[in-house]
Amino acid sequence: MTYLDANATTPPDPEVVEAMLPFLTQHFGNASSSHSSGRRARRALEKARGQVAGLIQAQPEEIIFTSGATESIASVVFFAQQEWPERPLLIISTVEHAAVVEGAARWEQRGGRVKRVPVDAHGFVQLEALKAALEPGKTALVSMIWANNETGVVSPMAEIVELAHEAGALVHADAVQMAGKLPLDVTAVPVDYLSLSGHKMHAPKGVGALFVSRRVPFRPLLIGGGQESGRRSGTENIPGIVAMGKAAELASTHDMLAQRELRDEFEQRLLAGWPGALVHGVAAPRLPNTTSICLPGVDSAGMLILLDQRGIECSGGSACHTASLHPSHVLEAMGYDAAHASSTLRFSLSRMNSRAEVLAAADEILHTAKHLREQMSVLA
Ligand code: PLP
Repeated sequence: MTYLDANATTPPDPEVVEAMLPFLTQHFGNASSSHSSGRRARRALEKARGQVAGLIQAQPEEIIFTSGATESIASVVFFAQQEWPERPLLIISTVEHAAVVEGAARWEQRGGRVKRVPVDAHGFVQLEALKAALEPGKTALVSMIWANNETGVVSPMAEIVELAHEAGALVHADAVQMAGKLPLDVTAVPVDYLSLSGHKMHAPKGVGALFVSRRVPFRPLLIGGGQESGRRSGTENIPGIVAMGKAAELASTHDMLAQRELRDEFEQRLLAGWPGALVHGVAAPRLPNTTSICLPGVDSAGMLILLDQRGIECSGGSACHTASLHPSHVLEAMGYDAAHASSTLRFSLSRMNSRAEVLAAADEILHTAKHLREQMSVLA
């Protein structure tokens, strides 16, 4: 099986699994207990906090562990609306993940206003439109995806932060797809809040992190026992957190250049083998692992089934809800129609893929696409 769907979820790294296993078996303590088992869990928790902080150049006390990025995002969005009723405006982009899209819808249901900043044909956030949307003194939060899960297009976060701060708004960055793929440094790009997800960086599902800069306020969404210094109640998922810590440590040593070279080679093979093939966001800065490609005349739903049968796993429109038949809102925001979206496939590599399997997959994808097109023309 060749797994080319790392933006949906990544295979756990064996080193990560090795690090977490003892915390599922013998080291099962509750980090709030004062006995030896509890203190061991606490030490593991704080080590992981340091490792995750290290990945983004934050201070350990700026990291809150959560159940995943969806919770991290919801925490920030709900907090901002409650905290600043006199600033009713939330600004997002048109290419956000569902966690932000739905958070914005809830913001509106609760009486707030939302502006959605468009992207250009390459999926790149239009800074002039952001500038025009910002209402100084009225904007509570700007929440933007740092790297897009479907196209891999990277947002101009430094400029977004500068514009938002000038208008007195705080910035939340959805950095889920950045972690382990491109460097993240919150001292160089001073976002106020930032969300991360364990399962997108070779740790298991059900663990995530929220960075809250020391400069800005925060109050928890989940209240109760006061864990995470009162900022996220609930007994900590120590095995998951240990895994995320290890994953963060490994992510910072990952060779991103080699990843980009392999992705480019894979992409070139597909482009050369299919007349009219088009890679989305090719003129914008992109993640080194992602290829979103339209193969005209190919039905991506049929391709997904055939490729799966041939041992290649990838996705169509949006990975996080592949069961959905709606065309991708990201491609729509870039100006593509439903027909174009239904011929689009997304391949996302990780460091667990070998060069040989990725290049063999490119040949198999072309072979399968030709086969499917022939079948369709017989039926037509
Ligand atoms: N943001 C982006 C860009 C994502 O790709 C995902 C993935 O599903 C999420 C947020 C949600 O992350 P999680 O699965 O940890 O809730």
